[in-house]
Order: sequence, then C-alpha cells, then structure tokens
Amino acid sequence: MSLERTAVAVTGAGSGMGEATAERFAERGADVVVVDVDGEAATEVADRIDARDGGSAVAHVADVSDADDVSAFVDRTVEEFGTIDVLHNNAGIPQQSTPVEDVTEETWDGVVDVNLKSAFLGAKYAVPHMRDQGGGVILNTASTAGIRPRTGLSAYCASKGGMITLTKQLAHELASDDIRVNAICPVATDTAMLPSFSGEELRVDDMLDTIPLGRLAEPGDIANAAVFLASDEAAMITGTALEVDGGRDI
Ligand code: NAD
Repeated sequence: MSLERTAVAVTGAGSGMGEATAERFAERGADVVVVDVDGEAATEVADRIDARDGGSAVAHVADVSDADDVSAFVDRTVEEFGTIDVLHNNAGIPQQSTPVEDVTEETWDGVVDVNLKSAFLGAKYAVPHMRDQGGGVILNTASTAGIRPRTGLSAYCASKGGMITLTKQLAHELASDDIRVNAICPVATDTAMLPSFSGEELRVDDMLDTIPLGRLAEPGDIANAAVFLASDEAAMITGTALEVDGGRDI
C-alpha cells in the first residue's frame, strides 16, 4: 500500500499514536506535517523522519483548539507539499476520572475544545483545499469511550461520541466532493496519556480486564488503521468508526 508523495498532516504527532502514525505514513512514502502544541516533541519526530532515506517531514507548532493555529497548519501543509491530501485530527487530552458533580466547567470546555472542536476546525480549513484539488481524506481519532462510555469520564466520553457523530455527518456532507471521512476508535492504548485517566471512578489496570484480546493497544495498531483508511484500498469506506479495540466493543 503506497502513499507515495501524499501530503499528510497529523495532529498530536509529537507523541503516542500520532507519532506512530506520522512514522507509518512516512514509511509508505508520504510527506508529513508533524503538528503538535509541544514544539520540541514535534521537531524531534519530524527531524527523525526527515533524516531517513526518502523520509520527508516538517514540524509545525499549533494548538488544535485555536482557529488561527488550525488554519495556519493547513496552509503550511499546502505551502510545503502543494496540497493537503490527508488530515488526521488526532490530538487529544484526557480527563482524570471524576464524578460528574465535581467536574469543573473549565475541564469540560478544555476537553471538548481540544478533542472535538479541533476536528470541526480542521474540516473547516482543509475542506476548501480538498475540494479544489478534487478530493481528500479526513481521519478523526475518537475512542471506544465514545461507544462504550466509562464511569468518571463525562467530558472525555462526550467529546469522543461527538467525534464519531461529526465524522458521520461530514462523510455524508463531503461525499459528493470525493472527500472521505472516517474515525478510528482505539481502546486503552499504551501511550503517555493512559495513566492520566486514573482517578476516583476508574483504575487503568481494570481496563485490561475488559479487552477480550487481553492486551492494551499499541500506537502501531492505530497507525496501521490510519494508513489503511487513508489509502485507495479504503476507497469505498466513508463514515465509519473503526474500532481498534481487541474486542472491547463487542
Ligand atoms: P499522547 O498524550 O501520547 O499524545 C497526544 C499528543 O497530543 C501530545 O503530543 C500532545 O502534546 C498533543 N496535544 C495535546 N493537546 C494539544 C493541542 N491542544 N494542540 C495540539 N496538540 C496537542 O496521547 P495518545 O494516547 O497518543 O492520544 C492520541 C489520541 O488518541 C487522542 O485523541 C486521545 O484522546 C485518543 N485516545 C487515546 C487512548 C489511550 O488510551 N491512550 C485511547 C483512545 C483514544
């Protein structure tokens, strides 16, 4: 499956599944914009990819909840690589497990802005380019939390449920422009984020017991799903929320 000279922007690519996805796209020949609010992490990942034989990546610092920042990284992708073929809205933040009555409005707004508004903004600024160039692919990292919510994660689960519905809505709206839109729903994944969910209502150790395949997901599992959904092999797939979950959602 080649993605030779496909222009891809991956948000939250300084760490975890975004980093693995940026790497996997680059291995398949794509030109990658490594977007992250953490400039040092983004630069480290982009430099590593770019130093490889045939690798091509640049780092871009952006807060995905900020409209000007999102517009700027979309424009940067087009400036660097001529188009934006794939936008992967992957950046997200966790919510520490907390009873709903103790969740602050600030926590709610922060989680929803980074995890959900970001995908609206990404579409808002990328779609005009994709339409002009005759098509494109948008990938949104949702979560099994948007399908089978867990206690204590009200804002997080709502943001991911919203991400799934937004994905389906955009897939419908943009199909006539040949823009495919799909979500990926990872189960608990072994990244820096995972311990941050632990709190009063939830222990991360308990999550493992709810995954029939008996292991956490690895960032590479998510990267594999992303390159497939972005490729021509997935040309007939739009509006899906692909569970990469070891059976958690059965
Ligand atoms: P991670 O913490 O390893 O990586 C997240 C990256 O996003 C970090 O590099 C961080 O700097 C960046 N980021 C955070 N806020 C940002 C912002 N406002 N603007 C730009 N970048 C920002 O986490 P991960 O586990 O790789 O998470 C990636 C995605 O997967 C998230 O959307 C997360 O909600 C989702 N997810 C994670 C799990 C899990 O168990 N780890 C499970 C399901 C879904």
